[in-house]
Amino acid sequence: MKRTAAAILALLMALGLCSCGGQRAESCDFFAMDTSMRLMLYGDDAALFEDTQAEIGRIENAFSRTIDTSLVSRLNRGETVTDAELADLLTSCITYTDLTDGAFDVTIAPVVLAWGFTTEHHRVPDAETLQELLQSVGRAHLHLSANDPKVSSSVDTVALDKGSSIDLGGVAKGYASDRVAALWKEQGVKSGLAALGGNIYCCGCKPDGSKWNIAVRDPFDGSAYIGTLALEDAFAVTSGGYERYFEENGKIYHHIIDPATGYPAESGLASVTIVSDSGSVCDILSTACYVLGAERAEAVWRSIGGFEMVIVTDDGHILITEGLEKDFDASSAAHDYDYEILR
Ligand code: AMP
Ligand code: MG
Repeated sequence: MKRTAAAILALLMALGLCSCGGQRAESCDFFAMDTSMRLMLYGDDAALFEDTQAEIGRIENAFSRTIDTSLVSRLNRGETVTDAELADLLTSCITYTDLTDGAFDVTIAPVVLAWGFTTEHHRVPDAETLQELLQSVGRAHLHLSANDPKVSSSVDTVALDKGSSIDLGGVAKGYASDRVAALWKEQGVKSGLAALGGNIYCCGCKPDGSKWNIAVRDPFDGSAYIGTLALEDAFAVTSGGYERYFEENGKIYHHIIDPATGYPAESGLASVTIVSDSGSVCDILSTACYVLGAERAEAVWRSIGGFEMVIVTDDGHILITEGLEKDFDASSAAHDYDYEILR
């Protein structure tokens, strides 16, 4: 089940789309990468909608595992693929696999497929099947190399062990938001907003000089928020089990898989929102921290730094890292939660 469209709508209602600082906001809605997207730009910058959409389409065509001709599909069919952009993205994925103790791992693909999240034919796989599939999961099955070391030592070539495959569902939208940011910066955009599903990019600040207000969804109530984040030139990404799930025999199974078990992560969290200056890092870490749970996510925050987060636990506690203390405003929350600052 997909709730992303509703979440974006809620977010945009919270943003209050109107004229700002004397300039009219233009917005553009479309569906890409299996989710609803909205771009917002001001004045002449709105001419960039087409190029922005084209760039997102290019990324989808390269990195989707359900498009037959994509680089990822070729790789998953056993081809060795030479493509510097894919190799770079996978290099950073592997870095974070190591930094998160394997919680984020793109080689989780065969397990995600077995649960039916790739095709939306959901089912609960049996324990033996999962154990068998987990043999093909792990970053050791993903091989990165330089195609022609005589010409360049840069890593640009990717191959997988037989039986292994990759799924970039946990990073591709964040990466797309990085590409949107690069395009807008290159074109001199000072103010804009891209909401690619739950992946938000705030370009600069609003034309009147104030920060963007990004609503953080209440994971227990799709029509409410737990608060808003005031952000400027930043990315914010939320992961939560409520985004995609199915129910069988009264039990909910969601789409974020713990690579240690092969089952949907049960780490005591309802959602994790990450804020940083990189869309792909936000996307990777929101998925990883959701798998890790509050304590281990906090340990990652303390050890690697460079990002901030808002964690909502299953029992309704909200943990906010200190870098967001001033920018988090809980006054729009519809329900009572206890908020704790992690210092
Ligand atoms: P997100 O919504 O960014 O948290 O990403 C969830 C998506 O990433 C899932 O729908 C899967 O396609 C994929 N995925 C699930 N579990 C993991 C994991 N542990 N590491 C990397 N990708 C995952
Ligand atoms: Mg993610």
